[in-house]
Amino acid sequence: MGVDLAADSEFFVRFWGVRGSIACPGPDTVRYGGNTSCLEIRCGGELLIFDAGTGLRNLGRAIDGNGSTDADLFFTHTHLDHINGLPFFSSAFNPKNCFRFWAGHLKPERSLRDDICSLMTAPLFPVPIEIFNADITYHDFTVNEVLRPKPGVVLRTAPLNHPNNATGYRIEYAGKSICYVTDTEHVIGQPDQTVLKLIADADIVIYDSTYTDEEFPRYVRWGHSTWQECLRLCAAARVKTAVIFHHDPSHDDAAMDRIAAEAARLRPGTVVAREGLVLAP
Ligand SMILES: [Zn+2]
Ligand SMILES: [Zn+2]
Repeated sequence: MGVDLAADSEFFVRFWGVRGSIACPGPDTVRYGGNTSCLEIRCGGELLIFDAGTGLRNLGRAIDGNGSTDADLFFTHTHLDHINGLPFFSSAFNPKNCFRFWAGHLKPERSLRDDICSLMTAPLFPVPIEIFNADITYHDFTVNEVLRPKPGVVLRTAPLNHPNNATGYRIEYAGKSICYVTDTEHVIGQPDQTVLKLIADADIVIYDSTYTDEEFPRYVRWGHSTWQECLRLCAAARVKTAVIFHHDPSHDDAAMDRIAAEAARLRPGTVVAREGLVLAP
């Protein structure tokens, strides 16, 4: 699949950040990328953003200068690696822009606005969220709700197995589907039925593949899964393309190459997410 061809299509995902836990720029991660989670999904020109990790900064730089932007930003959850690009999202400072921020993991105890306010509070951060000049509204939904942010775009949501909760998304447009399932932990030998239902027969599934199966026993209850579990779930759910995502910061490019080769051997067509990659269903 040619990157530029995919970018021309109506429905595609572009990866701006593919790392889990903490950004890890440097010569050893330059090919796969060091920024934390951020996806751009286009549905017939409409912009949907998923997560506000450090990758969001470059997404903002890319969309600024294209006139005004009207977009929806969906958070899987509000752990730092999924929100800490937000204060550096230049598009949020442009009064011509309009954003709707969405989260499904906080209601009723907390709200998305509360969590972002907690991030942007002195002395942790010098200015509060009121510094954003764009028209921004905050929407807390209840996980499992079906969202219809734009005409023809359907988002199905499901709860993930993660400390402090997280939301998995299935984006459906023009008869195709892209699923975004991070952060989540599996139980060895027990395929997650909630995830299987969310990703059933999907075209593209982007899944929390932080660890290898060999590493996993050391990280039980940290809230993450493995690339092998990604492949097992995608096989069981008849998914077309499995995408390994949320790479552990300790996995340098050489380690990711080894994972990519092994994954391609086990399941040809498997993709390892890297910054700048564009995939169309
Ligand atoms: Zn994460
Ligand atoms: Zn997390």
